[in-house]
Amino acid sequence: MSLQIARGREAKPPLRPLRSKQNVRPLLQEASEQSIAAAPAKRVVLRFPVNPDTKAFYRKFYPGTSSIEWNDWRWQMRARIRTLDELARIFHLSEDEYHAVKMHSGSLPVGITPYYASLMDLKDSQEPLRRTHIMTGEEYLRGPGEDDDPLAEDHDTAAPGIVHRYPDRVLFLTTGTCSTYCRYCTRARVVGNPGGEYQFSLRQWEQALTYLEEHTEVRDVLMSGGDPLTLGDDKLDWLLGRLRAIKHIEFLRIGTKVPVVLPQRITKSLVAILKKYHPLWMSLHFTHPDELTDEVTESTARLADAGIPLGSQTVLLKDINDDISVIRPLMLGLLKRRVRPYYLYQCDPIRGSAHFRTPVEKGLEIIQGLRGHTTGYATPIFAVDAPGGGGKVQIAPDFVVGRDGDDLLLRNFEGDVYRYPDPGGTLGRDKKAKLAAE
Ligand code: SF4
Repeated sequence: MSLQIARGREAKPPLRPLRSKQNVRPLLQEASEQSIAAAPAKRVVLRFPVNPDTKAFYRKFYPGTSSIEWNDWRWQMRARIRTLDELARIFHLSEDEYHAVKMHSGSLPVGITPYYASLMDLKDSQEPLRRTHIMTGEEYLRGPGEDDDPLAEDHDTAAPGIVHRYPDRVLFLTTGTCSTYCRYCTRARVVGNPGGEYQFSLRQWEQALTYLEEHTEVRDVLMSGGDPLTLGDDKLDWLLGRLRAIKHIEFLRIGTKVPVVLPQRITKSLVAILKKYHPLWMSLHFTHPDELTDEVTESTARLADAGIPLGSQTVLLKDINDDISVIRPLMLGLLKRRVRPYYLYQCDPIRGSAHFRTPVEKGLEIIQGLRGHTTGYATPIFAVDAPGGGGKVQIAPDFVVGRDGDDLLLRNFEGDVYRYPDPGGTLGRDKKAKLAAE
């Protein structure tokens, strides 16, 4: 079944705090771009660090902006860099970038929070974070095997926004809005296109919740999108409350990039809401060690202090993070921030992604460069999401060399071969024993 689609519904932001189920309905009309953009800034002082480079950037490009506004996540959302003029005001655009942005229409627009832009190189179009967010002409090329929906999520959609592929867990697409738009996004077809094909509304949420209430085999719900943390506190509180009220759902997860690209969103009030719905886990989308700023140290600390287990997921990207010298400090920096490296993903073959994709062996090479060489917790799982809806397939370096009688022959991280007494075992029997390596 394809995603259920509600076209052209009008966006309305929450107008006042929710008090009862009766007043929820009129307030939760749409989780859309406009709802964020139209929301008034709350004049509350948020004690949030601003790293020195970001401070210099903000004084230069947003001179009339107060520190209260800068640290207000709603201001960051409204001030996102969305247009060619705004990009050109801040970045020295290459000719390729300029034309690619000018040509773009539809979903996955340019969208960068001022905070995240402050981490990018304003002159060098090859700088890693910038490459992940400012489009180039290569995005318009369609390579072999590429598809708009490579993981066949539309096919596995069982109710509006509910992708039910695995037996006991579902993916719940809650919104089409992200704080920033990654050029390699697997859901490029879904995000950043209010009024387009994929829309999200209270009516769809209700249908999704009804599906979850009826499917008692579902014990784990991963909320994603878009980015669920772009929803206002009231909406998120309501949705988490409804999910938590379903008795057979044991485990809630949120997949988000917000703590990385919009760390100011992790307010004390948000954390207070999230804490109510344990067990709640989070998967944070990190790309590069340049993202590990003082602000991110604060956002992850607030979440970890709230008892939310944090895992990371990173997409392996050519000439951006496909090197052990980049991945290793990222993984170790995450551990220091109480984020457990969870997945390293092979980039999905979405349309126009060839310039981002590496050979699969590159991921294995990186895992091999981590395993044994540093803390085990710093080694993520390397996985390919099988195109066509096959689900995640883990790929790991093979440390089994073979078998010699009752001994299993294992290779350690330094390449040395060791024997493990394994009488009665068969593992490695079909491999040629590399005794010469002993
Ligand atoms: S934050 Fe996630 S859903 Fe949004 S554009 Fe990036 S990868 Fe896609």
